Amino acid sequence: MEYYSSHINKLIEQLSHLPGIGAKSAQRLAFHIMNMPKDQVEQLTSSITGARENVQYCKCCCTLTDREICPICSNDKRDHSVIMVVENTRDLAAYEKTGKFDGVYHVLHGAISPMLGIGPDDIKLKELMQRLAKDEVKEVIIATNSSLEGETTAMYISKLIKPTGIKVSRIASGVPVGGDLEYIDEVAFFGGDGYEQVGFAYCSDKRSSEKEASLCLKRKQLLLTWQRGQESPRQLFPWS
Ligand code: ZN
Repeated sequence: MEYYSSHINKLIEQLSHLPGIGAKSAQRLAFHIMNMPKDQVEQLTSSITGARENVQYCKCCCTLTDREICPICSNDKRDHSVIMVVENTRDLAAYEKTGKFDGVYHVLHGAISPMLGIGPDDIKLKELMQRLAKDEVKEVIIATNSSLEGETTAMYISKLIKPTGIKVSRIASGVPVGGDLEYIDEVAFFGGDGYEQVGFAYCSDKRSSEKEASLCLKRKQLLLTWQRGQESPRQLFPWS
C-alpha cells in the first residue's frame, strides 16, 4: 500500500542511495525537506548541482577542486618532489589539517578491492604513474588506509614504483596488519622488507585462511586470493 505521495516516495528512494543513509534516515530527511521553506530547498538543490557541475579533478593530483590545477599543486612553496598518495580528498584534507606535510598529494579516489571487483584501472593509478614519469619526484609516501583494500593498494603501488628507483615509504598505521584476526574474516599477512614477501588470503573459514596465507608467504607468491567456496587460490596480479 502506498502511504506517501509518489513524489515523497521518490525522494526517499533517492536519499536512501546516499552512503550511510538507511531507509529510516531517508524518510526522516525527506520529511524534513518537506517542512523546509521553499527558498531553502532551492538553495540546497542548487548547491548540489553547482558542486557537481563545477567541481573537477585537479589535472595534476586528481583531488576535487574548482580550478584546473588545485591550490596545493599550484603552490610553488610546496615540495613537488614528495608526493603523498591518499585514497580520497577527505584524507588529503585530514593530512593538510595537521600542517606538517609540505609536499604535494595524489588522490586515488578509491582503493584496490578484489572482493568488490575494483582493480588498479578503476582508481587514479595510471595518472600517478604518468606523473612520476613526467615530474622529478624523489619520494612517494603511500598513505592509503590500513584496511585490507588500503594495504593491497599500497603493496601494488610500491611494486609498480620500485623499478623506477623512486623512494617509496608507507605511512605507519595504528592496528598491526593481520593482528586483529578475531574481528575479521578476511585475513591479510604482510612480511619482509619493502613488501618483498606478501601473502593475502580470503576465506570463510578463519583457521584455514590463516594456514593458506602463511603458505602463500612461504612460497613467496605475491598476491593470492581464496574466495568463499573456491577450490584453489587465484593469483590476482601477475607480479614477479
Ligand atoms: Zn592538485
